[in-house]
Amino acid sequence: MERRAFFKLAGISAASLAALGALGACDAGIVEDNPLMGALESDDASESLSPAGSPAVSFSAEVDVLIVGSGVAGLSAAIAPVKAGRSVMIVDKLELLGGESYESNGVICVAGSDVQRAAGADRSIDEAWQVVQKKLSEVGVVELALAQRLFEAAPRWVDLLASEYGAQFSDPSIVESDDVKGLILLPKNGLGDMESIMVPLRDGLLDAGAVFHTDYRATAVILSEAAVVRGVRFSVAKGTSTVDVGARRVVVAAGGFSSSQPLVHSYLPDQERIACYTTASMGEGQMLCEAVGGQLEGMDVAAPLTSDIPQAAAWGLFGPTLIVDALGNRFAREDSIDAAANACAADERGYWWTIFDEELVNGGQSRSLAQVTSGNSRRVVGPCNDLAALAAQAGIPSETLEGTFARFDAAIEAGKDEDFGRTSFLQKLNPPYYAIKQMPVRYKTRGGVRTDEDGRVLGSLDAAISGIYCCGASAAIGMAGIAASGASGMLVGEAVAASLEGDDA
Ligand SMILES: Cc1cc2nc3c(=O)[nH]c(=O)nc-3n(C[C@H](O)[C@H](O)[C@H](O)COP(=O)(O)OP(=O)(O)OC[C@H]3O[C@@H](n4cnc5c(N)ncnc54)[C@H](O)[C@@H]3O)c2cc1C
Repeated sequence: MERRAFFKLAGISAASLAALGALGACDAGIVEDNPLMGALESDDASESLSPAGSPAVSFSAEVDVLIVGSGVAGLSAAIAPVKAGRSVMIVDKLELLGGESYESNGVICVAGSDVQRAAGADRSIDEAWQVVQKKLSEVGVVELALAQRLFEAAPRWVDLLASEYGAQFSDPSIVESDDVKGLILLPKNGLGDMESIMVPLRDGLLDAGAVFHTDYRATAVILSEAAVVRGVRFSVAKGTSTVDVGARRVVVAAGGFSSSQPLVHSYLPDQERIACYTTASMGEGQMLCEAVGGQLEGMDVAAPLTSDIPQAAAWGLFGPTLIVDALGNRFAREDSIDAAANACAADERGYWWTIFDEELVNGGQSRSLAQVTSGNSRRVVGPCNDLAALAAQAGIPSETLEGTFARFDAAIEAGKDEDFGRTSFLQKLNPPYYAIKQMPVRYKTRGGVRTDEDGRVLGSLDAAISGIYCCGASAAIGMAGIAASGASGMLVGEAVAASLEGDDA
C-alpha cells in the first residue's frame, strides 16, 4: 500500500513525501527534481521487491526495456524495441552519453557491408572472418562461435545505421593497407569522429521516443520475490540519492573492465601496472550480472593495449610511419593498432616514438594528425630536416636511429620486412621528419558476462536468467570492439523485442 500511496504523491512536495516515510532510499530533494518521478505507477502493489543487498524498493518509473549504458552496444540495443513501439529508457552513469564508444578511434572491423560494397571495397565476409579468426585465436580467444556470429551481423548493423539513422562513414576505398583493405570502415571524418555515427543514432532513437538519462549509475539489479529481474537501482546526483526503475527487460551494456583496477588485478595481473584510458569501463556490468548469478568467462584473456594517444596508434594503417623505442630501436610492426603498445609493455620499454613525414600529415587522416599533434604539442618533435636533428630533439642516440633507418631502408629495397612482417607502407620516410611520444595503456578487455545466442545472461548450469540481457564489451563477446559491440547490441535488442512480443501474444 505504501508504494501506491507514494506513487500517488510523487512530485507534490518533498516534505510530505519525506513524512510519508515510504521513499526507501529515494531522497526527497531528488524526488522533486527527478524527471523520472511521477512518470508511471506500478499497478502491482502486492509484489515484494528487493534489490540485491538492500531493502525498500520504490519505482520511480516503469518501462518495457531499461538499457544500462549508452555506448554503441546500448544504443544499438534500443533500435528494435523502439521500432516495435516499446518504451525504452537508456541510462548512463556519466554526464555525457556515448561512453568509450564515443571516445574511440572509430576503426570499425567489418566486411561485406553495402557501404563497403558500394565503394568497391569488397571482401567477402567468409574470407575476412578467416583473417579475424586467426587473430582472435592467436590472442587466446577460444569461444569463437559468438565472435563469428557478431562478425557476420556487423555489416547489417553498419547498413542499418547508415540507411535508417543516417550514420555517415568515410569512403572505404581510402584504406590502402593490404591487411585491412575491405576489413575496416571509418566514420565520415576519419579517425576519432564517432560523432558521425553516434549522434544520428542517438537523435533517431530520441525522435522515436527513447528516453535518456545521464548521471545515473546502476548499482543493483532489482529482483522480485520469485527472483525475477524487475528493474535496476541507480545512484544519482553523484551518489547522494537513489532511484529505482522498473522494467520488463533489463539490458546491461555497461562496457568492459579495463578501468577497474580490482578486476584487472584479479583477472589480468600482468597488466595491472599499466595505466588505463577511461573511467567508463569499470566492470560494473559484469558485477551487476554476477550479483544475480550470471557467469563470467574469458576474463583472463589478455586485453589488448594501445597508445595513450589512441589515434596515433592507428596512423600506421593510413600512411608511412616508423616506430622506435627510447634508444632508437625498431621493435614492432607499424601497420597494426596494438603491436607497439603490446610490445612496449611486454618488453618494459617504457615509451616509444612514432616517426612520420609529410605524407601522413597531408594524407587521408590529416584531420587526426592536426588534432592530435596540436593537442599534444609537448610530445611532438619536428619538423626535422635530417635524422641527426630528429635524434637530438627526441633525445635518441643518433647512431642507433641512423642504423634503424638503414635497416628499414634495406627491408624496403628487399620488399620484405624480415624483422616484424609489416606489409603496408613499406616505404621510405622523407624529411622533414616528425615524431610523437607515446606510452601503452589499457583500453579494452575481452572477457565478460556469459550469454546465450540472444544475449540472455547465463547463470549456473547455463540456465538463462529471466529478464536480463548483456551485450557489448560487458559480455564475453571475444571481439571487443565497436562493430562487435554494435552488432551485439543490435541482436540483443531484436531478441528483447521478440521476447516482449512473445509475452504479449
Ligand atoms: C580510446 C579508445 C579507442 C578505441 N578505439 C577503437 C577502435 O578504433 N575500434 C574498435 O573497434 N574499438 C575501439 N575501442 C574499443 C571500443 O570503443 C569498445 O570496445 C566499444 O566502444 C565498447 O562499446 P560498449 O557500448 O560495449 O561500451 P562503452 O562504449 O564503454 O559504453 C558503456 C557505457 O556504460 C556506461 N556505464 C558503465 N557502468 C555503468 C553503470 N553502472 N551505470 C550506468 N552506466 C554505466 C559507461 O559510462 C559507458 O557510457 C577503443 C576504446 C578506447 C577507450
